[in-house]
Amino acid sequence: MDRSNKQGEIRLPSVMVPYRCRRTTLCCHPPWRVWVTQDEAEQIQTRLEEVDDKEGGWVEPDRAFEAAGAGCRLLTQPSGGCVFLGQDPVRCRLQEIGGLDLLPMLCRLFPRSVVVTPAGIEAAFRLACPTVSALVVEGAAAFTWSRISLREWAYPPTHRIDQVLWRPGEKRGFEELEELRCSWWAEMERALAASSIGSALSACLSAMIEEPESPRGRKPANWSLPSVPLQYGAALNTCGFLSILPNRGPRYQAAYPGLMDALQQGPTSGEVAALADQHADIFLCAAGLLLQQAGVHDARPALLAIRKAAQQVVETLSSASILWKVGQSTVCDAIQDALTVSALVRHHQQLSTLVFVD
Ligand code: SF4
Repeated sequence: MDRSNKQGEIRLPSVMVPYRCRRTTLCCHPPWRVWVTQDEAEQIQTRLEEVDDKEGGWVEPDRAFEAAGAGCRLLTQPSGGCVFLGQDPVRCRLQEIGGLDLLPMLCRLFPRSVVVTPAGIEAAFRLACPTVSALVVEGAAAFTWSRISLREWAYPPTHRIDQVLWRPGEKRGFEELEELRCSWWAEMERALAASSIGSALSACLSAMIEEPESPRGRKPANWSLPSVPLQYGAALNTCGFLSILPNRGPRYQAAYPGLMDALQQGPTSGEVAALADQHADIFLCAAGLLLQQAGVHDARPALLAIRKAAQQVVETLSSASILWKVGQSTVCDAIQDALTVSALVRHHQQLSTLVFVD
């Protein structure tokens, strides 16, 4: 594992190097909303006032924003999409008139999270973007870093991390988490090389859940991947997010309510085990990316986040088994959609918790 800290470079997961926006525009529709800072709003307003060509869906400066709580966000069109989203061809009108620099930071970065650490600047990619999930399915591999020059990178870091919350009430240096992440990635690499890869995946995920601090510690014996039936609310959210997916959304909509029932019932353990055996590489790749985010790119205590990362992969396996059976998708499409939707459900659960706590 390369841990060197190179100036003038950013490190990112190798599987994400080919990432280019494929314009699914999922992030330009609800439930995503774009919050803007006062500076961003002023910059956008000024540029809109300067634009000469006011044809083709130009947005009036005073119809671009709305106040919400103590903040400000971009308005939406009656169809639900962002006020700047243009169709035919699909495009962002804001980017068209001002380039990346005019985009609110939320839009510019998505699906990336970029932070400065003592080991250098690193970027993570969120599985809630269907293109990120597609790359995981297409290029599944053990987690490794790739480095690219900052001159080729247009996405600035949002903050610096020197210390991480290890568990509630306890902070530790970033280096300790870096060490722990590297050990887990090495475990995942070993699992990928195992002759019985489904069992190795199962052992790795169970250890992350049971003992997130001890990658080489005791592996719970005879742990097999559980079937995870969803509660009513989670099944409803899952069906809601599936229905807005680009390409296959209408198909999932048509499969409701059978899909709803199947998600609440959960797959059989045999179905989960078969999928794990067949596609362990994809689930290990996803686990590696979620582990990268734990405690660094999310606001959770690191050990809890490692456990949650493994639980998310276990849940995704269950959902993918159901989508494959009910959603009339190919197995790879089903896994990609399950990866995206599980991440969306998690993300919005986390946001609603934060709103609730506030
Ligand atoms: S500003 Fe552009 S990128 Fe951001 S949500 Fe609107 S259309 Fe999408």
